[in-house]
Amino acid sequence: MTKTVQTQLLVIGGGLAGFACALQAAEDGAEVLLIEKTATTGGSSAMSGGCLAFAGTDLQQRNDIEDSDELLRRDLIEVGQSQNDASLVEVYVAHQLDTYHWLRGHGVEFSPVIEASSGQSVPRVHTVDPADMVRTLAEKCKATGRVSVMMSTAAKRLLRSDERAPVRGATAVDASGQAFEILARDGVVLASGGFCRNAELVNRFAPHYAEAVFVGGEGNVGDGLLMGWKLGADVRDMAYIKGTFGKHPVDTLNNHSCLAVYKGAIAVNQEGRRFVDESLSYKLLGDAVMGQSYHSAFQVFDQPIFDSGDDRVRILDFGRRMEEGLMVKADSLQALAQQIEVPYETLRATVDAYNLAADAGEDAVFGRKALVHNHGRLLRIETAPFYAYPSTAAVFGTYCGLRIDAGMRVIDVFGDPIAGLLAAGEVVGGFHGGAYMTGSALGKAAVFGRLAAREALKAETQAAA
Ligand SMILES: Cc1cc2nc3c(=O)[nH]c(=O)nc-3n(C[C@H](O)[C@H](O)[C@H](O)COP(=O)(O)OP(=O)(O)OC[C@H]3O[C@@H](n4cnc5c(N)ncnc54)[C@H](O)[C@@H]3O)c2cc1C
Repeated sequence: MTKTVQTQLLVIGGGLAGFACALQAAEDGAEVLLIEKTATTGGSSAMSGGCLAFAGTDLQQRNDIEDSDELLRRDLIEVGQSQNDASLVEVYVAHQLDTYHWLRGHGVEFSPVIEASSGQSVPRVHTVDPADMVRTLAEKCKATGRVSVMMSTAAKRLLRSDERAPVRGATAVDASGQAFEILARDGVVLASGGFCRNAELVNRFAPHYAEAVFVGGEGNVGDGLLMGWKLGADVRDMAYIKGTFGKHPVDTLNNHSCLAVYKGAIAVNQEGRRFVDESLSYKLLGDAVMGQSYHSAFQVFDQPIFDSGDDRVRILDFGRRMEEGLMVKADSLQALAQQIEVPYETLRATVDAYNLAADAGEDAVFGRKALVHNHGRLLRIETAPFYAYPSTAAVFGTYCGLRIDAGMRVIDVFGDPIAGLLAAGEVVGGFHGGAYMTGSALGKAAVFGRLAAREALKAETQAAA
């Protein structure tokens, strides 16, 4: 090692979690060094759909949407199939509204709340321009004069003198390929994202997604997870890696899924049959589509459902998909069946049976009672023209990883905190549980990033007292 850099708090990763952490720490008076492995900041955060899940906001109230901490907590646990770490859900619920105000206070602009999405009983999607959000927080960090950012600099290993000593920094490699040491007085925050760009690692936990599409930040190959593992960190939710339903199998224009099912479409397989309750979390729909022929299906809907799309929400922007030539449109259901090469008689029978279920308000076959989660009544599919959106599952994130406690401290396999090591954002597991609510990953990155900063500095305050 030729060089040693000293700082108070080391933050590894320049996505939303990293910059929320760095900014909070700097505003609380700390000197921070943030290192980012790639040449650009943002990670998956910047390329995301920009949907954040908050409850009880002024933007919801403006549209007469009644939401509350209780409802948010219930939805998170319900969509997570009660597999979530309740203490992490609790800490998210307790700090989400404050974080929404904090983001706004730092210049992040949110669009009006209008749509309910995966796992939401009421519209809770607060949309931002995601790249702009990260840029804004990065600029605020710079303005504090307390945050240094080193780009193209990758953390390699965490440093501690022995098993009982606190983590005191990390080794890293800079843009010129030079290895050096970073010593951090108050500890290290892992904010290095998930590992959806590491196919081999994903395959160890989720072999059934081998044929899925993978989309995510270039640097998201699991470095933080591996560094934590080496120190004995425990993990959570590894069994729940899932792809998101609604990704066009050959679309290279959009990173995002299209979720017409949440506006009333049905999902049919290549045989023209439904195979799932389409109101479920799009992660559970992802599991379901991977079990169908060619790992793909079609979202089938009619003109009124097409018209209810929303160009302000990427997953509901049907018009854009039409313009891009990704959507199939036909004047009759028969012509649609011919175009997508699905047997017409079967598709007709599927749509007829579903329309009867819509009249009854509940589908007896798969148990669908709502458009999405507990929100919205079933709609008939009957008014030409008809549409089909080819859909498979895309792994946009891994949503599992290091076990942490409610203070964002990384916990080892025997249940003890690893002193000096905190983690936030997609590198951590336990919060989502079995499936995922739209907006809860970006929400988690912001909320947990700030809390990690607070915890690191709290330890400092206690040590000084
Ligand atoms: C296409 C897409 C759409 C999405 N849409 C949504 C959405 O609408 N709502 C939602 O809630 N979630 C969404 N997600 C998921 C969400 O974006 C992520 O879970 C979240 O952004 C993670 O934030 P993060 O800060 O933890 O990680 P990231 O934003 O990925 O940042 C991690 C950073 O750490 C860097 N890094 C990695 N290893 C090292 C290392 N060794 N040293 C230094 N730096 C390192 C990476 O290069 C990266 O820049 C989406 C994801 C994708 C890919």
